[in-house]
Amino acid sequence: MTLRRQPGGTKSMCATLPPPSAGEGGPAVRPGRSGRSPAEGGRRERAKFLAARTGTACALALLLATPLPGRAAPQDAPAASVPLPPPIPPERPQDLTPPPPPGEAIKAAPTPPERPAELTPAVQADTKPDGKLDAKPEGPAPTAESGKPEAAQPTPLPPARPPELSGEAALALKVSAPDDAACRTRLARLGARFEPLPAIANGQCGAPLPLKLTALDGVALPQSATLTCTAAEALARWATEAQVAAERELKQPLRSIAIGTSYECRGQNHDVEAKLSEHAFANGVDVMSFGLEGRAPVTVAAKPAGSDEGRFLDAVRGRACAFFRTVLGPGSNAAHADHLHLDERERNAGHRLCQ
Ligand SMILES: [Zn+2]
Repeated sequence: MTLRRQPGGTKSMCATLPPPSAGEGGPAVRPGRSGRSPAEGGRRERAKFLAARTGTACALALLLATPLPGRAAPQDAPAASVPLPPPIPPERPQDLTPPPPPGEAIKAAPTPPERPAELTPAVQADTKPDGKLDAKPEGPAPTAESGKPEAAQPTPLPPARPPELSGEAALALKVSAPDDAACRTRLARLGARFEPLPAIANGQCGAPLPLKLTALDGVALPQSATLTCTAAEALARWATEAQVAAERELKQPLRSIAIGTSYECRGQNHDVEAKLSEHAFANGVDVMSFGLEGRAPVTVAAKPAGSDEGRFLDAVRGRACAFFRTVLGPGSNAAHADHLHLDERERNAGHRLCQ
């Protein structure tokens, strides 16, 4: 290298020199032999070397620019602040760099294991048995593999609708059959005779557990009644009240009750446009007359005020409201002029209709 003295001074000329590190251009600085401190000896050696190459001015400038041990520059701080070890740290041996710790070796594993090709369709088939996640695998999956899942998608068909959940059977399920075993037990204890009937399903009309009521305790039913157990139990309990009223008002025992209509699929008051009657659900019964021993039957009709039959009919009609939710008869309307209509229609807040 040829160096020329420049008018700019030693700073610019010295800038062309290699840095005063022992690794590259300068000689290795060893500890001084004359008892000086290693840092001071190193600076002197470096100054000698530079003076030989660039002249005294530059060497002095560099010597002054070299930080003292007390206020060393950050780059020379380790060498200057450590007293005993040599100022230039020994070069790291080449064999120490490559072997990293075993833990880092595992982390630095360059290439992840390749996914087996046969695993991709199997995982996708497991993750979407219900078919709801079909849209996700299609996006990221490559075109070659997306064909397989799409081919498997048509297979998860929705389960077939059970036959009992379709058609009229489904409609029948909405009117779920109540468990009236306790009601039938009570009805039998009341002395009623009855037999179960098959479920009635006639469009919107019907009854899941109808009974054929043929007799009450001590009171015959010449016309059997098709009723729900609830209506039959109410009729049986009311009949005991009618027996008491017959003994009190007519001085004769009650022997029979003539039933007009029990189950019948029709609207209220036989009106096709009207709401379905409780008769349509085997939940209502029409009482036409009472048979008493030793006298003519007492038909349901408007009776002269103060007559024994009138008092009897008023008594049984009034007591009926304790067992049925609806009681209609003569005076309610023209449709009930000749019978008592009794039913168990449920109303909001348990309201009853007794007229
Ligand atoms: Zn009726």
